[in-house]
This record gives sequence, C-alpha cells and structure tokens, in this order.
Amino acid sequence: MRQLRRAWLVAVLGAILGTPFSFSQTGSTQSSSIKTSGFSLVETLAVDASEALRKVFHARLTIPAEAGDFVLLYPKWIPGEHGPTGPVVDTAGIYFRANGHELNWHRDSVDMYAFHVEVPQGVTSIDATLDYLSPVETPGNFSAGSSATEKLAVLSWNWLVLYPKGHGSDEIGVKTSLKLPAGWQWASALPHSSSNAGAVDFTLASLTTLVDSPVLMGQYLKKISLQPGQSPAHELDIAGDSTASLAILPRQIKAFDNLVAEAGALYGARHYREYHFLLTLSDHVAHFGLEHHESNDSRLGEGYLTDAAQWTLGASLLPHEYSHSWNGKYRRPAGLATSEYQAPMEGKLLWVYEGLTEYFGYVLAGRSGLQTSQEWREQFAQIAMTYSHRTGRKWRSLEDTAIAAQTLYEAPDAFSNYRRGVDYYDEGALIWLEADTIIREKSGGKKSLDNFARLFYGGHDTAPEVKTYTFDDVVNTLNQVQPYDWRGFLTDRVLKVAEHSPMGGITNSGWILVYTDQPNTIAKLREQEGRGFDASASVGLVLAKDGVVVDAIEDGIAAKNGIGPGMKIIAVNGRKYSADFLLAAMHEAQRSHQPIQLLAENTEYYRTVPLDYFDGPRNPHLVRDAGKPDLLSDIIKSRVSTPPASLTSVE
Ligand SMILES: [Zn+2]
Repeated sequence: MRQLRRAWLVAVLGAILGTPFSFSQTGSTQSSSIKTSGFSLVETLAVDASEALRKVFHARLTIPAEAGDFVLLYPKWIPGEHGPTGPVVDTAGIYFRANGHELNWHRDSVDMYAFHVEVPQGVTSIDATLDYLSPVETPGNFSAGSSATEKLAVLSWNWLVLYPKGHGSDEIGVKTSLKLPAGWQWASALPHSSSNAGAVDFTLASLTTLVDSPVLMGQYLKKISLQPGQSPAHELDIAGDSTASLAILPRQIKAFDNLVAEAGALYGARHYREYHFLLTLSDHVAHFGLEHHESNDSRLGEGYLTDAAQWTLGASLLPHEYSHSWNGKYRRPAGLATSEYQAPMEGKLLWVYEGLTEYFGYVLAGRSGLQTSQEWREQFAQIAMTYSHRTGRKWRSLEDTAIAAQTLYEAPDAFSNYRRGVDYYDEGALIWLEADTIIREKSGGKKSLDNFARLFYGGHDTAPEVKTYTFDDVVNTLNQVQPYDWRGFLTDRVLKVAEHSPMGGITNSGWILVYTDQPNTIAKLREQEGRGFDASASVGLVLAKDGVVVDAIEDGIAAKNGIGPGMKIIAVNGRKYSADFLLAAMHEAQRSHQPIQLLAENTEYYRTVPLDYFDGPRNPHLVRDAGKPDLLSDIIKSRVSTPPASLTSVE
C-alpha cells in the first residue's frame, strides 16, 4: 500500500541468480495456496452497483447458518491496509431473513464488527441484505475512502460481505454476481463465467480471493494488453473521469510494458494466474495504491497520463503496488498472514513488506523508464533530506513505527518530524539501497539485491500462494547471497534507535548529498501541483501552499523561535506569503545578514517572528563522487527492456 495524501511526504512519493532457489533456510515458512473448491461452506453474494453514481452499493447474501445465536462478522482488518480499517460505519440497511421471515439481530456490544442473529430451529440458511454508503470525497482511508464518481467506481468486496464466525477466509467459498450502472464497463482479476448487458457472474472463489480482487468499473474504461502473447497475461485497465484522461501515449504504454518485463527479470518467477493493473484517474476519489495478489488498485489524478508533472510524481506508484504481488502477497511476514479479517495484524516487519517494496518500486520505475535517472536521483535526494530532519529518530526506532503502523497511517501531518510517521517506506528504501551496495561491494560486483529478490520471491511460476517469513528468514537469505553481518546491520538501522539517517547507500553508490540554492526537480513539481513548499533543510518549515505550517522541524530555527504546526505564515518581510517570497527573503538575508521577518497567525493572534537565518535556500541534490564507481546508475539501468523514446515530455 502507498499513501499519497501527505503534503510533505516525498513518496507519496547485477548479477543474476547465482544460487538455485531454495527455502532450505526458511524453516518457519508456512504455505497456503489458492482454493477454488472443497470449501467448508459456500455463500452467494449478489452486488447491485447500479446506484454507484449516488454512492450506494447494495448486497444480498445467502449464508449457511446454524440455529441459535449465530454470529456473522464484517471484515475489520483489511489486507494491505495494515490496520482495522473495515468501513463498518458506512454500512446501512442490514436485514436478516429466513423462510421469508425477518430475524432479530443485535450488534455485539464489544466488537462492532460482529452481528448476533437469532436463527430459529430447523433453519440452515439465511438471507442478508446490506448496503454500503461510499464516502463523499474524503481523503485517505484507503479503500474505505471516496471510491465512486459520476463516471467510475472501484468496488472493494469487503464492503459488502458477512461471514460466519469460526471460519478462515480460505475455507469459505463465495459465488458472486455483479450488476453495473447502465453503459459501464468493468475490469478485475476475479475469474468470471459470464458477462453481458451490465451483469457479471463470477466463478466460485474463496473469500480470500474475493476480498483480494476489487473491480474497477466506469463509463470510460480502456484495456491495454502488456507484453501481449506472454503467459501469464498482463492487462492495464484504466478508468478515468473523462475520455481525455485515457489518452495514453505509445511511449507510456512502452514504459508499463517494460515494467512487466523488468519485474519478471528481477523476481525470476510470477505468482499469479493473470495480472491486472487497475488504474483509476480521478480528482474525486481517495488517492493511494493498494496491492492485491493478481491486481493492484492504484488511484491518481485525472491528469496522470496527460500532465507531465503528475506523470513524473506518480512514476513509482504502479511499480510499488505491482512489486507487492511478490513482496507482501506471495511472501508475507508471519504476523501479517492472518486466517481471516477479525484477527489483528502485526506490523513489525513492515520495513521489509513496505520498505523493500518501496526500494524495488523505485528501482523498477528507473529500469522501466517510468522515471529518468535524473528524476530518480532528485527523488532520492529529497528522501535523504526528509529523513535527515526526522528529530523523532532520537527516541523512536524504525521498527517501532512499523509496530505502530495501525496508528500512524491516520496520524496527522503536524509534528510528523518528531512523532515520526510511516517512515519504514522511504527510510526503509534508504536502508535497502545500502544493503544493495554492500552486496555489490563485498561480491566484487558479482551479486546484488537482485539475487536476494530471486531467492526470496522467485522460484517457479505458481498461482497465488502465501509463504510466510520471519526476521531470521530475511537475514539468512541475505547471508546466502553474500555473507556479512546482516543481523547486526539490520539491528543497528531498524531495531535500535538510530539517531542518524541511513545515508550509506548513497555514499557507497558513488554519490554525495549536497544542498544548493537550485530547486530540486521533484520538490518543484510538487510545488507546481499545489502540494506546498518544503524548507526543512533551511528554516525548518514544511508549508502548505497557503502558508499554513504543516510541520516545524523540532530543532530547526523556526521552531526554536516559536513557530509550530497549524500556525499560518501570513507575510514574509512585510509581503503576503508565497514560497517564492520566502525564497527571496532567504537570499536577501544571506546578502544583508538581516533577520527574515515572518508574520505568523496563531489561533486568531498575530505575532512577528524574526529568524536569524543567513544560509540561503538549501535544496537537496545528489552529485557524483568521482572517487567511487557509479553503482546508482547501474542499479536503475534497464536489464531486459529498451527505454521508451522520450521520458520527460508527456506533452
Ligand atoms: Zn505498499
């Protein structure tokens, strides 16, 4: 998963196979495979999405039942969201019936996701109806966020299912049908038996597979085969709020085509029957990406394919979500591989699940040509700056952010430098870059993290299955690739409080982080898109477009002079705030050695705050260290594809 709403967050922003594939060192590995028959019970689910335009989805279920106090559960912990995010608050119209009679029910007084139904003697099956009320333009909340517009919708089946307590999701079969709004098309990785006139019958699937297979639907929907003729099949399915939003160029298709080829080369095998990139382009749905085993639900702005800035800023989302098919779905930390949706998930290893996915997502964005090498370096410079100004690293380990994932996704942006956020994504990427460079150095260039990818995620092509892993499995496989003190390396950077940001990957790879007054390309694009101005490395402020303080770095000069999150910078040196005027004021102070005068508003009071800051703008960049080989450029060099014709100009 990847969150895109944070104003300040950048993310949101070798040698091949030397050792035969083996799980010999992963003794704790458990495996479960996809099920299509032999279920302990089978439900039917009929979803009527014909009112998706007004954000109401109707479901009718038939559920095998037992007489007495029969408990039905609504999915609470949604795979990939790493938290109890099931949108039970947005359910309505819940009725239970048997033999035409309405049944009494009450919600559990402790577990809001459990429904007690009074099932009469002799009754073996009950009918349930349930509506899902899709939120209106809420940011965040992932699949429980805004998902329907006048022209499209993304349907997550977990909104609309109930299942009997005491059964694992692999053991429950669901026979599902779907009715679409008039004139809409659809796409999903869920296998179907028939589809016509806006009605789809899906084949019997486990509840696991159903919840893992959302449906993208819309009036404007384009399907593009990637790596056509290859098996398994890959399809890019794009729904947009306008026909213009679907105007994908041949070189953009080429980059996605490359992504499929490069991922195959990186991981060495695929673990899906077919794969669908479900891409939603709308300014009115929640923006994020959510991984599934055979698809991903990625949501970007309506202009993603047609606006150069949006294209560049969204470059690594699809590579990230696609990588999760291997890292997160096929291989999954044991604590995140739960048997059904009421069981709490443990996020302790999210620095692997998300951090390594983030790294490989960036690597694949570079290798496929979704991003230029210059953009790639600017992005990593921005990440390095952000995590060099994380004051919370003094008290909190990276692992603690992973353990607390379920609280941090919804944490406010305010004080995020001190609280820390979901740092295991991009700080994780920095740590995995360092691991990659260590393997390259120690093996004399013969091996790389690609070898780890093949050992850990590859093998032979399979249908979806889950193999769990532990910290020891990660350490042991790294040692199998290249002997080193990997346990100590990861303990120091992840498990322990580490006051300094992990910069070894950048320096080992032949580059140096520098700060200049020249704008960072990625930061500039974000600013142009209205996503605010990041002055962490200069005055210690992260500012929204209108001057509202998103965050003030705890040991930065602004915070030391009384500026905090939620205040608003009204004026700089007497003139109404803009990022450009603040930059100009930094230049002026550098020349004149006179303080920058900020006028700040705080809870209806105004205060003038002088800042003795004379170092000018400081924007992060990577520059070559001529004394070392350029490993970075090799890491993101295409392996098996040719770059698309033009990378930067989408116009
Ligand atoms: Zn992710």
